[in-house]
Amino acid sequence: MLNAQAALDIVLSSVKLQGTLTVALERAHGLVQAEDILASENVPPFDNAGMDGYAVRAEDVQVVPAVLRVVGEIAAGSAAEMKLSKGEAIAVMTGAKIPSGCDAVVQIERTESCNDGQIKVLQPVTICQNIRRAGDDIEKNKTVLTKGDHLKPQHIGVLASIGKRFVQVYRPPTVAILATGNELVTLDVPLADGKIRNSNAYSLAALVQEIGGLPDNLGIAKDDREDLTNKIHAGLDDDMLIISGGVSVGKYDLVIENLKSIGVEVKFWKVNIKPGMPLVFGIYRGKPVFGLPGNPVSTVITFLQFVKPALMKMMGYRKTDSSFKIRAKLAHDIVKTDGKKHFIRAILENSDGSMTVRSIGSQASNALLSLAKANCLIVLSEETEIVHAGEEVEVELL
Ligand code: AMP
Ligand code: MG
Repeated sequence: MLNAQAALDIVLSSVKLQGTLTVALERAHGLVQAEDILASENVPPFDNAGMDGYAVRAEDVQVVPAVLRVVGEIAAGSAAEMKLSKGEAIAVMTGAKIPSGCDAVVQIERTESCNDGQIKVLQPVTICQNIRRAGDDIEKNKTVLTKGDHLKPQHIGVLASIGKRFVQVYRPPTVAILATGNELVTLDVPLADGKIRNSNAYSLAALVQEIGGLPDNLGIAKDDREDLTNKIHAGLDDDMLIISGGVSVGKYDLVIENLKSIGVEVKFWKVNIKPGMPLVFGIYRGKPVFGLPGNPVSTVITFLQFVKPALMKMMGYRKTDSSFKIRAKLAHDIVKTDGKKHFIRAILENSDGSMTVRSIGSQASNALLSLAKANCLIVLSEETEIVHAGEEVEVELL
């Protein structure tokens, strides 16, 4: 059976980068930048006060207490061109433009007012102290962000600070999500005997959104050739199709045969992993099609391991690692003998300065609550058979 790494390599070599799109800055959060961006403005744009206090000449306050005459006030936003001479101070607010002749700002807490238009400076300042120079943070004409940067809120703030109204990003893929199974019902009907809720459509939509993709919920297909064919066809209009369920070996697992009859080139079926073994992947006219096993935990884990990297590549992410990985000490022994790569729901904790990990709850592939309560997955390679308490294992953060 195909190993996880080989399967991931097939997936990644089969998907292509999306085209680009220019969006208003407020729509760019979570997308990946498709251009290098030079600063068209200095940030800050002018020398300004980093504290509420007094603009002074540092040399005037080397011997303290030093008494200075207050000759004016500059508030943030004021464009007043003021000049400071020997023995003088100008009151400034945080963010106010620094007057010419001033080379430091004394924090207000380090002064005393003398009530006669003078202040007493109680502590010396060094040149440039409490002054934020023009371009200190971002220098005009320098590269600020580069192609492949994933735009988090702080990146959006940086772009706003240089007045970047529109930004070129990779077009977020639309992802069709099709749940299959005669037992599935929506959330808004009473649960009849033998039925269960279609939870996978919701976890999958959330997973797609988390990366910045656009989920398109196609609802539920019956385990029936015609219904499946029609709904799969509808899903092939999107940039990616994810089908949940129907990929196993049961009598009503019709997805693979259906995909083939529609003309999807099936690249692999079954990967040597637990949970999630019956995963199927194919390509239809350049578009990726995933069939994820329907058990709710298998659905999420196969998404994280195979679909997420594919989406990240399509969206222009620089890296396609599905999650942050660390090594941690195992709190108990684990034995496995099936030769599969395992993803074990677990809790990672800092105990006495070292990171320790222990498996939690049920590891059954339908037990979604234990996945929700886990904060990581212990990853054990195909070859691993016994890991003892105290040994280090690879952990993927959730
Ligand atoms: P399947 O992969 O179709 O054989 O389904 C495996 C198990 O997952 C069965 O117990 C299904 O009822 C369950 N299942 C399939 N699809 C969903 C879904 N969309 N939401 C919740 N459970 C599902
Ligand atoms: Mg089914």
